[in-house]
Amino acid sequence: MRNLRTLIQPYQPCPTAWRKPACRTKDEEMKICVIGTGRMGSALASVLLKQRHDVAVWNRTASRCLPLVQQGAVALPSVADTLATSDVVIVNVIDYRVSDELLHAPEAADALAGKTVVQLTSGSPAQAREAHAWSAERGIGYLDGAIMSTPNFIGTDAASLLYSGPKSAFDAAHPAVIDFGIATHVGTDPGLACALDVALLAQMWGKLFGTLQAIAVCGAEGVDLDTFSRHIPRFAPTVKGATDDLIARARDDRLAGDEQTLASIGAHHAAFHHLLEIVREKRLDAGVADAFDRLFRRAIDRGHLDDDFAALVPLLARRA
Ligand code: NAP
Repeated sequence: MRNLRTLIQPYQPCPTAWRKPACRTKDEEMKICVIGTGRMGSALASVLLKQRHDVAVWNRTASRCLPLVQQGAVALPSVADTLATSDVVIVNVIDYRVSDELLHAPEAADALAGKTVVQLTSGSPAQAREAHAWSAERGIGYLDGAIMSTPNFIGTDAASLLYSGPKSAFDAAHPAVIDFGIATHVGTDPGLACALDVALLAQMWGKLFGTLQAIAVCGAEGVDLDTFSRHIPRFAPTVKGATDDLIARARDDRLAGDEQTLASIGAHHAAFHHLLEIVREKRLDAGVADAFDRLFRRAIDRGHLDDDFAALVPLLARRA
């Protein structure tokens, strides 16, 4: 059995950045429940309690609700009973399969009628659209959300949460979700928040996998990691400029090389060659470098040597 201390390991909030509890009128106090009190669900519930809402919680492993009960939450033994207490239902479990298992059970589905579900479990756009369709058929308000933050930032302005789905659902949930962080309704298509989430994470993974590659190069060539780290902010304006330029060119379909091109594919590939050399000479794993090289070579084979880096855009786009 896992010991209780491990189970009750609350996230560490940023102590200085908490939003002050709002001065609520009686009308603004909401009955809210949180289904799933793992790391993220606990952070969300904790903010709701700090903001003086009535909060009920449910978690498969009941002991994980204890710190929230100590903060004033009510923990109930069944999902259906927990849903019945509230107008707004925040769901944050590991994935949509689990969420569907919990919410689609007949008693739970009955208890949800007329309420608003805010789905904050990470999922795909297709899963979000399906969940919305299921809810709409049953007269349940549905708002899908993506949390672009780790639990320690929840409740501060450093947390960004994206929401999509009917505006009426966003308006109904707004008093509940407003204190989690910066809340943005990105559109009425319920899949949009998940789509933007995946796009932003793809960008993050590009950076993280690039950093793994850089760490390997530093290790092989005797560059200490503190030195590497110190130079990242100095290079950052250039990287940001190139990223912004790439997005603007993709948006405007300006893929050919022109007067404003910062570096052609040929120039990029010549510099990139030095990474390939180190990878081969020092026998580093070639997975990341080879994947990038294949893209460069496909573009060059198609005659884009002198074109802008943005000429790589169609290579990753949907195939016709
Ligand atoms: P976590 O600490 O592992 O919590 C997972 C939650 O899902 C727990 O409440 C867990 O219950 C529940 N769960 C898992 N399997 C279940 C099952 N079969 N039946 C019922 N409940 C089940 O994970 P987390 O970090 O809080 O993540 C929760 C969601 O938030 C995920 O969708 C994640 O992608 C998303 N998210 C997390 C972060 C982050 O930084 N942590 C950031 C953005 C989004 P038990 O306690 O009983 O295991």
